[in-house]
Amino acid sequence: MNEKIAVVTGASRGIGRAIALALAADGATVVVNYNGSRERACAVVSEIEAAGGKAEAMGCDVSDFAAAEEFFKAVIGKYGRVDILVNNAGITRDGLLMKMTEEDFDRVVGINLKGAFNCIRHVSRQMLKQRSGRIISISSVSGVMGNAGQANYSASKAGIIGLTKSAARELASRSITVNAVAPGFIDTEMTQVLPDKVKEQACAQIPFGRFGRPEDVAEAVAFLASERAGYITGQVLSVDGGMAM
Ligand code: NAP
Repeated sequence: MNEKIAVVTGASRGIGRAIALALAADGATVVVNYNGSRERACAVVSEIEAAGGKAEAMGCDVSDFAAAEEFFKAVIGKYGRVDILVNNAGITRDGLLMKMTEEDFDRVVGINLKGAFNCIRHVSRQMLKQRSGRIISISSVSGVMGNAGQANYSASKAGIIGLTKSAARELASRSITVNAVAPGFIDTEMTQVLPDKVKEQACAQIPFGRFGRPEDVAEAVAFLASERAGYITGQVLSVDGGMAM
């Protein structure tokens, strides 16, 4: 991936951090996006640089259409191109449907789904000009199967799949591939807050019997971002220890 420019949203920790490290290890220059965690994003950049890679931290709330436009203008202004976009930024605000607030629904869909739309919207003109590009968005097993207590999150992650397939159809003629990766339960701060009972119930549904690691997801993303995946588009690749087969 030498000479490739990659943008990974929400790369200050967890799965996004692992994706940024993997793409940088494969030679890409990585824009490590964050929203609130500037110090942690800078730590990811330092980690990449210490390993001989190239990266830069750039903040942006991806749910803000205008801010995302400015963000991509800045990236393209500096690097002249974007070869890889990974829509990873995401949050949860779990609760049963009957008690879920409008704010909790809007915020989760606003970051997880609209954030991905905003980024695809603002990067696609550049990729069309380049006649090449890789767009990978992080969905979830919750978007594929549904999950009690996650109506907002499941809707956003199922929406990612529809967005991915439509974008794949629109952009294929210019050799731009658009795919989704659907992780199962992965050991990050997002899942570390779950009560032990919920974790045990989750493990019981996973044929592997355990949570995955952020690096498991990063490997799948790195493959879809590579030249080797040039004829794969509109797909949803599960990385879930067999949970959603
Ligand atoms: P995490 O550890 O909570 O990290 C979330 C990342 O998203 C952080 O870097 C955060 O950055 C960023 N972020 C949040 N709101 C943002 C915004 N408005 N704009 C830009 N960045 C924003 O979560 P994770 O477990 O690594 O999850 C990463 C992705 O994988 C998410 O889309 C999640 O839904 C998905 N996923 C996770 C699992 C799992 O089991 N962990 C399973 C399936 C799918 P700041 O701290 O700077 O705000």
